[in-house]
Order: sequence, then C-alpha cells, then structure tokens
Amino acid sequence: MIRPILRYGERTLHQPAAPVTAFDEELQRLVDDMIETMYAAPGIGLAATQVGVPLRVITIDLSVGRKAEDLIVMVNPEFVEREGTQLEEEGCLSAPSFNATVVRPARAIVKGLTRDGQEQRIEATGLLARAFQHEIDHLDGVVFIDRLRGIKRDLIVRRIQKLRKTGKW
Ligand SMILES: [Zn+2]
Repeated sequence: MIRPILRYGERTLHQPAAPVTAFDEELQRLVDDMIETMYAAPGIGLAATQVGVPLRVITIDLSVGRKAEDLIVMVNPEFVEREGTQLEEEGCLSAPSFNATVVRPARAIVKGLTRDGQEQRIEATGLLARAFQHEIDHLDGVVFIDRLRGIKRDLIVRRIQKLRKTGKW
C-alpha cells in the first residue's frame, strides 16, 4: 500500500525515531509499504518517519526498482565509519521541487539489521553513502534543509511557509 509522504513542517518528520524492537507482521507491512511508496514517488530512498511512523527503518534503491539486488532495507541503521566529504545537489520527497548542495561523507560503513532481524553491514561510497546519510538523518528528525546554513536555508524555509499558508504544501 502506498502511504502518504509527510512534508517539511509536519511534526513526525522533525522528531527522532525509536529503535525497532519487534520484527512482527506490522514491521513487515511497514517495510513493504515503504518500498512501494518509494518506487511510486519515485525516489531512491525513504525513511519511516517520512510516512509518519517514528521507527528506525530505511529503504534505499539507487536503481529505483530496476535491479532487485540494489534494494536495501535497513532496520536500526548506524554508522560504523564515515570519511571524506562530497558536495552534491540533493532533494527530498518531503520537500518536492527544492534542491540544495549538502556536505555528505564520501564513504561510509553502515551496520544494522535486515527486516528479519539479521545483522547486516554495508560499505557505501558516492551516491549510496549520501543516501545513507540523508535517510539516517531523517530518523533523527533532520531534513536536508536543516543541514543548510544562512540565506540558502532561510530562503527555502520561507518559501515553504508561504506554500503552507496558502494550502499548496
Ligand atoms: Zn529525504
């Protein structure tokens, strides 16, 4: 089932999520729905907080469904290592039509659990490292706009507030 994606300014999106403790049917349904929602958007990553569920679950697929082996589902993800920096333009399904350049690690090692509770560890570089940082940020209630500074951030936030006020957000 495709779930509605929260937008910047909606409360759950800005609150930190809790670790998953039960690998039950409800979690499996959440994961299935997140994958479907991510593909339908379409997007390369989604965090549970974006569909209003305050749990530490992310899905990433750089191929957006074209290559089955590219699908990553990670529960309770955390960084083991992060190094280097990359500066690339980034967007977010929770802030459609806004893009900005964000500093991200060039390489990262992430560990967490599969949807069945098995341990997994993934080494990521480039776009995948950036996707991990973007999605794990979401689990901490941080949207890429919050990572910006000064005028660039103010400009985007003000434009979003305007859209919200006129009911266009
Ligand atoms: Zn996002």
